[in-house]
Amino acid sequence: REKTGANGIRLTMESALTARDRVGVQDFVLLENFTSEAAFIENLRKRFKENLIYTYIGSVLVSVNPYKELEIYSKQNMERYRGVSFYEVSPHLYAIADNSYRSLRTERKDQCILISGESGAGKTEATKKILQYYAVTCPASQQVETVKDRLLQSNPVLEAFGNAKTLRNDNSSRFGKYMDVQFDYRGAPVGGHILNYLLEKSRVVHQNHGERNFHIFYQLLEGGEEDLLRRLGLEKNPQQYHYLVKVYQIVSINDKNDWKIVRRALSIISFKDNEDLLSIVASVLHLGNVQFAADEQGNAQVTTENQIKYLARLLAVEGSVLRDALIHKKIIAKGEELISPLNLEQAAYARDALAKAIYGRTFSWLVNKVNKSLAYEVNEPFVCCTTVLGLLDIYGFEVFQHNSFEQFCINYCNEKLQQLFIELTLKSEQEEYESEGIAWEPVQYFNNKIICDLVEEKFKGIISILDEELFTQHKLADQKTRKSLGREEFRLLHYAGEVTYSVAGFLDKNNDLLFRNLKEVSVDGACSNAAQRGVGFKTGGATQFKNSLSKLMEILMSKEPSYIRCMKPNDAKQADRFDEVLIRHQVKYLGLMENLRVRRAGFAYRRKYEVFLQRYKSLCPETWPTWDGRPHDGVAVLVKHLGYKQEEYKMGRTKIFIRFPKTLFATEDALEV
Ligand code: ATP
Ligand code: MG
Repeated sequence: REKTGANGIRLTMESALTARDRVGVQDFVLLENFTSEAAFIENLRKRFKENLIYTYIGSVLVSVNPYKELEIYSKQNMERYRGVSFYEVSPHLYAIADNSYRSLRTERKDQCILISGESGAGKTEATKKILQYYAVTCPASQQVETVKDRLLQSNPVLEAFGNAKTLRNDNSSRFGKYMDVQFDYRGAPVGGHILNYLLEKSRVVHQNHGERNFHIFYQLLEGGEEDLLRRLGLEKNPQQYHYLVKVYQIVSINDKNDWKIVRRALSIISFKDNEDLLSIVASVLHLGNVQFAADEQGNAQVTTENQIKYLARLLAVEGSVLRDALIHKKIIAKGEELISPLNLEQAAYARDALAKAIYGRTFSWLVNKVNKSLAYEVNEPFVCCTTVLGLLDIYGFEVFQHNSFEQFCINYCNEKLQQLFIELTLKSEQEEYESEGIAWEPVQYFNNKIICDLVEEKFKGIISILDEELFTQHKLADQKTRKSLGREEFRLLHYAGEVTYSVAGFLDKNNDLLFRNLKEVSVDGACSNAAQRGVGFKTGGATQFKNSLSKLMEILMSKEPSYIRCMKPNDAKQADRFDEVLIRHQVKYLGLMENLRVRRAGFAYRRKYEVFLQRYKSLCPETWPTWDGRPHDGVAVLVKHLGYKQEEYKMGRTKIFIRFPKTLFATEDALEV
């Protein structure tokens, strides 16, 4: 009897099902007890133990970081997933990548792949692997090769400037990233575009214990040629620099080597003159070493003339102007300019604010440069029609002991993404039911619109209140809050759970305060060339974030989404360790049980008649060895013979829908007899 499908199609579903006691099910919808979180986690654990790090919830891919190299990313394996239907091969990133790509080609509909998960869960690695998949499997030509190269090389560049070692991840992305890849009519990648979100600028001037500043600083000092360092006035030793003092030798990072990779990548994405860029990196280090002393009046004076000299040169500003700007504050009151001296604390604050602003703007400028090099050059004007596939790599829901402005923005973003996710999942489910002619049964779900409104509403939302600086006066007690709160706290009931935010520092972070005269210096000087197109200063950070987020939502809404949900198995960055408590948190924060519930609300399993018949025809004398009529009728005969009860299944236009996994498993098991 046939064990594999006819036409040589391999059906790995079979092996997974028969071995399901050992390796679990490859799609959570096949869990009998689909509302049980324990069963969900047990299935993950079984698979993880067998190095099966990918599992589906319908078409959503759940991934658990293996923290070791698995041999599943070879070119041969990429080929295995090319043009193959989702269920014929075991779950993989490549299946998602290939599926999106094929929809893009056949339906000419823009796609996006949303990758989420907490720090260290494997989002960035997943993004890179998907890009590699396209680089290998998409059609090639001379011009396309250049684009592919630039797309791939944009990663080391942005990682050097935007990633850092944190306690959770040695290569943690400290910014959110959305990247469009543009395909031409032949399905070849011809261009790209990157949007960046919320760079964690505060890291430039301060890092928590055990963490580092952005990689680029160490790379430059470790790898930079002597000549270059001399021109930049830098010494090789990171300990010399206040912004880098907390240096840690990290086994997993080779700054010297990474420097070479970054330099090469910079040249591939056509940075002719990257010394400008490095001058600014150097200037941030010099700025960090600017020191002050108080004069008799308690006013700050600069004591490190040498740094000012370097800064003046590197930033192409007058030394005296910069010095003055660092120790004075200019305010405009009733149309008049007032200049007042700063005390020590204020001067240090101003210095750090300038360093953050310079770095932040440089990062935006860098993204701009990368975008220019990725821009699609239309050589054949009559074929300019392209389709787009977007990749979103953005931090997951975050809850710490102390949650501040950053967590507020990140969690708000996740709230929006979750809302989009639920809406689109339900919508596509509903559409499939309708197109198959099957009655839709409404699903109850956690509608988080109320939370999004509370955050973003025009006049009374938290963000607009932040901008009006009314924060402390406003009564935030009428939110869904049960337990008592401190005076400077508020609590939101997110889809993933309650989070208490502390408003201390909120306004400051929202305002991203840079004194007027420093703004003028930074706009007048050379750093403006590199950084002027960075974010403006008029509205608060949260409002800017809200606006860019709403643009992102628009972009995502116009595309067909796929989802990758990343998890990390333990906090120790170790292989083969599955920490159930940690996993349970992530299952919750990623909303996976809700996802499964929605997906399972109707039918656990659905398959095209042809596929279903092909697989099980041997179980019925009338359909074996061949069925000559319509596949629909063949399946009807088959399931009748198998004794399916009426409530167990429905016949759609092109697919059979099976309500319970046990029905399917019984049929599967019959194959084995
Ligand atoms: P962050 O939010 O901090 O940026 P992230 O989700 O982007 O985190 P990654 O940087 O992608 O996390 O992954 C962290 C580390 O985990 C990687 O540097 C790598 O060592 C390991 N890792 C992630 N995915 C895989 C994988 N598929 N195979 C092997 N190792 C992996
Ligand atoms: Mg990352």
